[in-house]
Amino acid sequence: MRIVKIETGEVNIPLVTPFKTALRTVDCVNDIIVRIVTEDGQEGFGEAPPTAVITGDTKASVKGAIEEFIAPNLVGMDIENLDGVMEKLHGCILKNTSAKAAVDMAVYDLFAKSCKKPLYKVLGGKRSEIETDLTISVNGIDEMVKDSLRAVDQGFGILKIKVGKEGLKDVERIRAIRQAVGPSVRLRIDANQGWSPKEAVRIIRKMEDLGIEMDLVEQPVNAHDFQGMRYVTSQVYTPILADESVFSVEDAIRIIQKRAADLINIKLMKTGGIYQALKICGIAESFGVECMIGCMLESKIAVSAAAHLAAAKGIITRADLDGPSLCREDPYEGGPVYEGSKIYMNEAYGLGITRVPGFF
Ligand code: MG
Repeated sequence: MRIVKIETGEVNIPLVTPFKTALRTVDCVNDIIVRIVTEDGQEGFGEAPPTAVITGDTKASVKGAIEEFIAPNLVGMDIENLDGVMEKLHGCILKNTSAKAAVDMAVYDLFAKSCKKPLYKVLGGKRSEIETDLTISVNGIDEMVKDSLRAVDQGFGILKIKVGKEGLKDVERIRAIRQAVGPSVRLRIDANQGWSPKEAVRIIRKMEDLGIEMDLVEQPVNAHDFQGMRYVTSQVYTPILADESVFSVEDAIRIIQKRAADLINIKLMKTGGIYQALKICGIAESFGVECMIGCMLESKIAVSAAAHLAAAKGIITRADLDGPSLCREDPYEGGPVYEGSKIYMNEAYGLGITRVPGFF
């Protein structure tokens, strides 16, 4: 199965409500999509969002990296030589992790199709169902309470609350949400680097003292401040999850060795795809550090690639794969089924996406 063509397109899907974090506000999923075609006419699909504030990638940089560097290096290679293709993909251009992720997942899609199996089974997985949280954007308290209640009504038992823009006022946000949703809903708090280390300890301890149960607090401080992450992790009871601090395998090792977080958030757009994500899973497994699988503002192609990885790896104990739930429509055919908080894997080969109508 030699690669004969790698081409890009662009998808534009409006969101149900604007997505707001401490870093940005976005109202649609506007991503680059990739199609790889092999000599026997098989198609593999990939997707990458332009998350400039986190990965540094823009639509033009993703497209440019794929068309100018990755495609010329990969065309002609055999999909069944998976390691060779991956070494070439990760070696032909530095950084550009989102572009690499889009191509990586399309290659895995084709590889699993060549095995005539769904990707999660090729990766060794047996789990056919995943529970995801739903993100509550950072807004005024009343609006966040309303959004949280609506999510619980829709069947979500885990909410990911975005904070980090107003310091100590975040305590009021979380307290109001906890009171409104009751004790059975799990709350994950994501500050997106919005607090200083001392501020983070003060805020988290205050919530702990008020008896507000939290599943975890994600990326409380600046991504590069490993000392700060370590300080926060050592000073609070609630588990701390590293997100923006961990892109690469090396970052994961550093965070674990420094005990700078209790948990690691793997996202394909940070790792450059499944190949490197599997290495992080292996390291996390060896240290007994549980992982969450997350996504950026991605639609069903990229989120499904993450879902296949999550279904395959026991060390991934938490899923934040709400991209398709945040989208107003689903423009693709096939793939895992997203029903409220549940993602159901199926027996379709590869990622399972059969058609990307209107683009390719
Ligand atoms: Mg995060």
